[in-house]
Amino acid sequence: MEEIFQTDQLIKYIYIHVPFCLKKCNYCSFYSEIYSDDLKKKFVSYLIKEIKLFKNKFHLKSETIYFGGGTPSLLSPEDINNIISEFNLTDIKEITLEANPLNIDKIYAKELAETLINRISLGVQSFLDKELELLGRLHNAEQIYKAYENLRNSGFKNISFDLIYGLPNQTIEDVSFSLERMVDLDPEHISTYCLSLEKDVPLYNMKKQIPSDEEVSEFYYFIRDKLMTAGYEHYEISNFAKEGFESRHNLCYWNDEFYLGLGPAASGYIERNRYTNPSDLYEYFIQIETLEVFGNFRSLSKSDHEKEFIFLSLRKTVGMNLKEFQKKFQTDFLKKYSKIIAKYLENKFIEIEEEFIRLTPKAYFVSDEIFSEFV
Ligand code: SF4
Repeated sequence: MEEIFQTDQLIKYIYIHVPFCLKKCNYCSFYSEIYSDDLKKKFVSYLIKEIKLFKNKFHLKSETIYFGGGTPSLLSPEDINNIISEFNLTDIKEITLEANPLNIDKIYAKELAETLINRISLGVQSFLDKELELLGRLHNAEQIYKAYENLRNSGFKNISFDLIYGLPNQTIEDVSFSLERMVDLDPEHISTYCLSLEKDVPLYNMKKQIPSDEEVSEFYYFIRDKLMTAGYEHYEISNFAKEGFESRHNLCYWNDEFYLGLGPAASGYIERNRYTNPSDLYEYFIQIETLEVFGNFRSLSKSDHEKEFIFLSLRKTVGMNLKEFQKKFQTDFLKKYSKIIAKYLENKFIEIEEEFIRLTPKAYFVSDEIFSEFV
């Protein structure tokens, strides 16, 4: 490890993958195991060992910690306190816990509010019970209201909702139904996801019933319009926030910052090296025991780094800072990519304003196609 990394590298952003769910949802390809108390206990003890290994090698001073999953709300408040207390929290600004509405009863919400968690990302997905059932979610719409009320009553002032769209046989009225209920509840942040199905998930057999690209594009711009009208700022292709409530943690990915990934299947990015922990709890335990904590680290070449920087920066609606690009890569972006830029300026899919180049709104839904030309 010493040969590859400077050991005093400052790392401010921490992602923790909690690999447990009560049941696998019908559309999900994320790594998780079915929850058991014993396995969770073992996981927490290995996670703490993993944190200690990193603490010995790097200078960890967390500004954000993000508990993702899986279902992090299966951790007890005591687990959460034990994990968080491993970090230097002098500069901490945001600690997010992804939560399943089903887990957020009055007692859990109250106990969570007594930890340092200050942001909850609630896996709402939809307010239509028929859609929640199709997705194989364990909660229903009623439970979302209860969870939200419990969180607010316990004092949480920064709550994000996930909204999924592009479901089999979904209509714009269905999308509108969920969206209206979300806006009525007034969370500080909303993340939107277009359903994408891998071959190995149960819902894949309904792939043919998924709305066409034109329909899904219509859903996307409908959602965008409604959320912006309701006072949300569209700050990243799929993310909307009330002023000052952008996800600080997720911005680290789009801003090319280094971050630590802890837990099975978690990815990290340190000194231009990317690594991913094994997507298997038992292999993960072995990796910690044998001190091979970096799994499959991969050094990013300068050109790969440049490509990643372009497509991650352009996901932000503010766009990519041309001066920053020049500084990082000693290259004039506008000259190097002049042909592609000319084409997209011509059809108004990108715009340049002062030192920023950005996608225009009509390009958002086809952003992957545009990025592929740069990479
Ligand atoms: S969607 Fe979330 S709750 Fe459902 S299986 Fe995937 S990680 Fe678990």
